[in-house]
Amino acid sequence: MNAAVDTEVCIVGAGFGGLGIAITLKRARFDDFVVLERGNAVGGTWRDNVYPGCACDIPTTLYSYSFEPNPHWTRLYPRREELWDYLADCARRYGLEPHLRFGRALDDAVWDDTTATWHVRTADGATLRCRVLILATGALNRPKRPPIPGRDTFAGTAFHSSEWDASVDLRGKQVAVIGTGASAVQIVPEIAAEVARLTIFQRTPPWIFPRFDRPIGARERALRRFIPGYARLTRALLYWSLEVRAYGFTVKPDLLQRREALALRYLSRKVADPALRRALTPHYRMGCKRVLLSDDYYDAVQRPNVTLTTEATAIEPDGVRTADGTLHPADVIVYATGFEATKQLSGVRITGRDGMALADAWRDGMAAYLGTSVAGFPNLFMIVGPNTGLGHNSMVVMMEAQYAYVVDALRRMRRTKVRALDVRPDVQRTFNDELQRKMRGTVWASGCSSWYQDERGKNTTLWPGFTFAFRRLTRRFRPDRYHAV
Ligand code: NAP
Repeated sequence: MNAAVDTEVCIVGAGFGGLGIAITLKRARFDDFVVLERGNAVGGTWRDNVYPGCACDIPTTLYSYSFEPNPHWTRLYPRREELWDYLADCARRYGLEPHLRFGRALDDAVWDDTTATWHVRTADGATLRCRVLILATGALNRPKRPPIPGRDTFAGTAFHSSEWDASVDLRGKQVAVIGTGASAVQIVPEIAAEVARLTIFQRTPPWIFPRFDRPIGARERALRRFIPGYARLTRALLYWSLEVRAYGFTVKPDLLQRREALALRYLSRKVADPALRRALTPHYRMGCKRVLLSDDYYDAVQRPNVTLTTEATAIEPDGVRTADGTLHPADVIVYATGFEATKQLSGVRITGRDGMALADAWRDGMAAYLGTSVAGFPNLFMIVGPNTGLGHNSMVVMMEAQYAYVVDALRRMRRTKVRALDVRPDVQRTFNDELQRKMRGTVWASGCSSWYQDERGKNTTLWPGFTFAFRRLTRRFRPDRYHAV
């Protein structure tokens, strides 16, 4: 270990992204690192989201590390418990325990140019100096609480989907679910049968396809386990079947009309009542918001104790009011209203060269080079940084591309004895100008509003292209794009 630092590399976050980069470092024989985690266990999203029905909408085959295929998955679409176990198991298997520091929420990080180190402070007052800071803090963990008038006057219990209060017994209660996104369509079918009355407040109907979830039987598990190459082949097939969708999303959104017709046919088959069908019919180009998968949402909406109504306009002590003046009584409100994805890292202070705050560098919106490096912040790398999100394929593909890129950068620093690397501002600017130019032709710019865009309407979250293009760009670290500091 270098005497000037407490640890060579400091990773922040022990979710999918943080564990993955930690394992990749281990596999590349970088052993001098710690992982700071604000919680008391690994798992990130899959530790925190405990709402009923929480599962991933990408099949396990592809929503797992490529270097750690798991032959034991029990369902096509993994439930959060199984994903959480998988991540904990990966951490154990790769000997990450000695590197993990729980209860350490990043509070601030300051770059010191003279020693070329990051000075990191966590909320509990602990400090740490490191050469390289890797932020794997995730994009979907700052709950968005809608500014509905009267929110604080509600006399019952209210919580956000990602802060599910399992101590609240919903049986026999009148429950309001606000929002109809990916979380809501998983929650609604799970709780509909047990509550007395469920009212769903929908502002915009989502596009929904059936998920075709099913258990993975013993025979298929045996194939994954004992047939060499089987897991890799099924992963590759699934990857390409999802990847082709990027063409419609990012190159020719008009092609999505055919997919829309299929989804509308599914809706017609599931919902007989014309008025309800109309209410559930989306009026924007498919893919502009995340396309949802569910086998049972439409069934749940049609239960006699479930009502689908319009956007909530006010919250009162006894319930939720809609624009037509109706008060929908509620004992419990569930805010399934999503996350502040465009405000990544706004809760921590990151200070780069010449005292520049990341919040100031991102005054006009989040931006990075390859979603990984930010000019003026040497030796800072992000996993799932700006514009690395996907609407069409598994995030694991993007994360693994970033792991390879970061490890290549560290190898290079070690080999060339360069203390620090800072991406050139002109490189970052050109990269983002081109990225935003491509964004203009994508489905995400076709006229809807979504969590992909910031308050200026700029999409700072998604990658406007194929994942293989991102993989190509990140295959090798490009020293000519950086200044040595
Ligand atoms: P979301 O997709 O952003 O949905 C939020 C919902 O709340 C939308 O229906 C939105 O309506 C509504 N809403 C937000 N603010 C509102 C307001 N002020 N008034 C009324 N309605 C409001 O959030 P999410 O369902 O939590 O999902 C977020 C992301 O997490 C997903 O897109 C996905 O990437 C990820 N996720 C993934 C899975 C999975 O299976 N892998 C599961 C859950 C979540 P509008 O559409 O009108 O804005």
